[in-house]
Amino acid sequence: MLKNKTALVTGSTSGIGLGIAKALAQQGAHIVLNGFGDADGPKSEISALGVEVDYHGADMSKPDEIEAMMAFAAQRFGGVDILVNNAGIQHVARVEDFPVERWDAVIAINLSSAFHTTRLALPAMRKANWGRIINVASVHGLVGSAEKSAYVAAKHGVVGLTKVTALETATTGVTCNAICPGWVLTPLVQKQVDAKAAALGISNEAATQKLLGEKEPSMQFTTPEELGALAVFFCSPAGNNVRGVAWNMDGGWAAQ
Ligand code: NAD
Repeated sequence: MLKNKTALVTGSTSGIGLGIAKALAQQGAHIVLNGFGDADGPKSEISALGVEVDYHGADMSKPDEIEAMMAFAAQRFGGVDILVNNAGIQHVARVEDFPVERWDAVIAINLSSAFHTTRLALPAMRKANWGRIINVASVHGLVGSAEKSAYVAAKHGVVGLTKVTALETATTGVTCNAICPGWVLTPLVQKQVDAKAAALGISNEAATQKLLGEKEPSMQFTTPEELGALAVFFCSPAGNNVRGVAWNMDGGWAAQ
């Protein structure tokens, strides 16, 4: 379905981003990976799916590096047809204790990076009259949780950016939507499970159950594969007129 399209997925060396990159590659899209850590493993996993894959290590907190990444994608693949803004970090602290430097980093990586990639990708998408922008927000783009001020502010911002981008492209073949996962067991969440286990002196298993039980009625994690399938739907012809939605996959979290 996505043969001859190129997808750039930020933060795709791990977790949800890698899951979405694989799902898009399974539909035939060439992939530009981005993110920190090992890139060779993810590159060979994608390459095994029979598509072209390359990697750019831009730091999503740095607009000049984001510009270099978008220029790299244009040069290597002729442009970006599908942009998935996924890179993100978390920091947990009460507002009055929140380190200013962590606030700035969360806003830069989780929110401003999506503005930069979007503004740089849109001209070519408009010209081609086809494009898909998928913003990985969070259920925290819809509701709040204590001690996550920067993350919740950034994710609400991403949902707002999604709506405005969708409105500005509404009469074109470009769509923009957000995905709002609840808990997904990735390194980002494993850190929170570990912190809970240490703080309460309980086992990893008990901390996992507690984490799910506090927020997620289904008591189960959403998987990167499920999120990848939703991204594929947004890219399909059935998604042509799906614009500006913030679609939660959260085990009932936001329904409460
Ligand atoms: P993860 O830690 O597994 O992956 C994050 C990715 O972003 C990694 O590839 C990492 O290298 C990359 N990254 C981090 N900082 C970066 C930077 N400055 N520049 C470039 N890349 C950077 O986390 P994840 O859980 O897969 O999170 C992916 C996205 O999904 C995030 O936006 C997160 O907020 C969102 N999300 C996660 C969950 C969850 O439960 N895991 C729930 C809702 C939303």
